[in-house]
Amino acid sequence: MILDGRDIGDGGVIATQVCIVGSGPAGITAALLLQKAGYKVVLIEGGRNPGYYQESWAEKNLLYAGQAEGLFTTNEPDFLIQPYAGQSARGWERERVYGGTSTHWGGQTRPLDPITFEARPGFPGWPITYEDLIPYYAQAAKLCVLHGDDFSADYWAGVLSAEVPDIAGFDTEMYQFMGGAYTNFATRTFDGVTAAEAIAEIIVNATLLEIQHAGGVVQGLRVASLDTSFPPAKATEFTITADVYVLACGAVENARQLLLSEAGNDQVGRYFQCHPLSGGSALSVSGNFISPAAMRLIKGQTPTGTWTDDNGVTVQGRFSPSADIQRQYGIGSCWFRPYTSSYYFEMRPNDESRITLADTVDPVFGQPQTRIRWEVGPGDQHTYETSTLLFQEAIGALGGQFYYPSWEDLKSQLIVNGHHIGTTRMSADPAKGAVDADLRVHGLDNLYVAGSSVFPQGGISNPTLTIVALSVRLAEHLGERLGRARPLRTAELEDA
Ligand SMILES: Cc1cc2nc3c(=O)[nH]c(=O)nc-3n(C[C@H](O)[C@H](O)[C@H](O)COP(=O)(O)OP(=O)(O)OC[C@H]3O[C@@H](n4cnc5c(N)ncnc54)[C@H](O)[C@@H]3O)c2cc1C
Repeated sequence: MILDGRDIGDGGVIATQVCIVGSGPAGITAALLLQKAGYKVVLIEGGRNPGYYQESWAEKNLLYAGQAEGLFTTNEPDFLIQPYAGQSARGWERERVYGGTSTHWGGQTRPLDPITFEARPGFPGWPITYEDLIPYYAQAAKLCVLHGDDFSADYWAGVLSAEVPDIAGFDTEMYQFMGGAYTNFATRTFDGVTAAEAIAEIIVNATLLEIQHAGGVVQGLRVASLDTSFPPAKATEFTITADVYVLACGAVENARQLLLSEAGNDQVGRYFQCHPLSGGSALSVSGNFISPAAMRLIKGQTPTGTWTDDNGVTVQGRFSPSADIQRQYGIGSCWFRPYTSSYYFEMRPNDESRITLADTVDPVFGQPQTRIRWEVGPGDQHTYETSTLLFQEAIGALGGQFYYPSWEDLKSQLIVNGHHIGTTRMSADPAKGAVDADLRVHGLDNLYVAGSSVFPQGGISNPTLTIVALSVRLAEHLGERLGRARPLRTAELEDA
């Protein structure tokens, strides 16, 4: 059921077992599974529930504005609120609406590669392994209604009657695209019912203002609703108390909320990362360096045309440096495609890229705005120059040609591209991360974080399948902590 925050009386107190803040894929997944397992869940969302996400932009501009520095200054000055003029076709970075950024994301999915979890020079590694996440990826694939959880090139070559290309030092990595009916977590169904039908209490127009905590325990959330004037003003203010709380506001706002409430340690806000994306024609790959059957694997085609399954899933391949090459040359991952394309790569975690609080305040609630700084550094230049040279040599040996611009030229084109990573990273060591391996905020007993803000490093795969997998894992952990009512598995959704 969806309520509006204005319907909660001023000064009211709502008591629940689990309170989740933010209704994107991270929040809805955890809320849905915990509700299905029998826990009392309240999911709050600062945005409203309009017919179309762009209707929320006026409010978003007021509440997400702040200061964007570093590479943002030249490349994407309006990162926090709107696409940079001229790049509107490429990215609206973040939304403030029921469903979060899933209201217009691309639905492109792939688990992270095992190497993403490894610590190596320049990359901290994760406190959990790829193997730890395998069962949760299987659940996430079901929740995303994918064509199974096998992303291997061999498997897809079989499905498409295609061939796996052989390019020295590069793997063919397959990406499944979710069917359009399932990408928007606000409107889609989960085994026949929407999240709003499944979750007993979703409160939209309910903005978290403060995490009230003392002695290492969160005691309540101070939440406000807005009236319908423009610019809006606070309508009501109420409190939610719960046994456990989950922040699922996206990587920028997760960090800001912790900073606003002086919750968490000095790691909060650090290591903002993304998958920087160049302009669409930065790279040019030409020549018949793979067979027609291998090209079909890259394009997701059978001998008779584009492959799709009954749920609208499609598939495509990309070339990425193998794990051995990444280790040998000390580079992050990236991908290449035939023809003209963008360059897209794994950033090296960089302490200069971080979120802090600005000295300006938002015009609605009067709270400090976000200051975000984004820098790409010598390690990223090394990934670019090494991966492009290796790819040029590899396809050159097969008769292909590859053009790529200088690093400085490429750097001038980069945008963040919707994948916001780091800022509350996971580490067993509180000196190196903001949350532990269970996603619990270091130093606070009952506050957890969901979403890609907890990724210590981003790998090359799009983040949301991993976000969903981590939310399934978090729901299981919270179920154990609260005393499990029923098993937490997506099979429950199938039984619903
Ligand atoms: C153009 C674009 C294309 C993308 N394509 C892909 C893709 O193909 N594949 C992929 O994996 N990923 C893609 N992404 C990224 C994907 O959208 C995000 O990874 C995903 O939405 C993150 O989910 P989340 O639940 O963590 O956060 P979000 O979806 O951002 O949701 C956070 C929610 O928290 C709410 N909130 C914020 N502050 C407060 C507050 N104070 N109080 C209450 N609520 C609050 C927001 O309103 C929002 O609804 C894309 C992103 C963009 C912008």
